[in-house]
Amino acid sequence: LVSRKSRNEDTVVKLGEIAVGGGKPVMVAGPCSVESYKQVREVAAALKQAGVTVMRGGAFKPRTSPYEFQGLGIEGLKILKEVADEFGLKTISEIVSPAHIETACQYIDVIQIGARNMQNFELLKAAGDVRVPILLKRGISATIDEFMHAAEYIVSRGNRQVMLIERGIRTYEKATRNTLDISAVPILKQESHLPVLVDVSHSTGRKDILVPCAKAALAAGADGIMVEVHPNPAAALSDAAQQLDIEQFNRFYAGVLQSGLLG
Ligand code: PEP
Ligand code: MN
Repeated sequence: LVSRKSRNEDTVVKLGEIAVGGGKPVMVAGPCSVESYKQVREVAAALKQAGVTVMRGGAFKPRTSPYEFQGLGIEGLKILKEVADEFGLKTISEIVSPAHIETACQYIDVIQIGARNMQNFELLKAAGDVRVPILLKRGISATIDEFMHAAEYIVSRGNRQVMLIERGIRTYEKATRNTLDISAVPILKQESHLPVLVDVSHSTGRKDILVPCAKAALAAGADGIMVEVHPNPAAALSDAAQQLDIEQFNRFYAGVLQSGLLG
């Protein structure tokens, strides 16, 4: 069902007035983790001012170590909703358990399924059983074929509003946190009708090459870019090294806008 062979027309995922896929690419920005109302509000105000209308923020954090910050959970989703309502933003947040999917729909606009859960089949089925947009991240070591099959789990249950996001894959290269598989973008666009985004923060793990990576993604046909932004990255409870501060984000966004690739 996700293949171009079954449907050639681009899937357009609607987030209110925002359309993802088949048109103008979208910019998604926000903190790695929801840490507090104040932190999210600061980012939201900056995004609003910049003209960015889709905000990300993790409330359930899949961390490598159990001793690291695990996220605020449902409380974090409530913060996202309160702030998004104030600024008129759409929100994306990761859900890690099928038990939280229905509740999450009350608070956020898009459910993210993270890289570590790309093949959590019960979670994929639960995401397929609701009628809210899903942002599916490519698994850390997933092939493009496995990625598309994961999306098929969701769409085959009747939820057609699925967006794919390349977030870097694990290779031997250590200069970046993961390796941004730029070729995945045109391949996914060719093989599937679903929107394809690129997460420049998790794929690179760095702040200094985000503009060229975002431009490359858009030039390759991406329908959107995701980037992490935090008011004070040095004090962030997760991914401190890769998050942009607000000024850096504004420069990043201006750089991408200047390319004309955002439409
Ligand atoms: C995230 O986007 O918050 C995240 C944890 O990313 P990934 O699942 O790609 O590692
Ligand atoms: Mn992160």
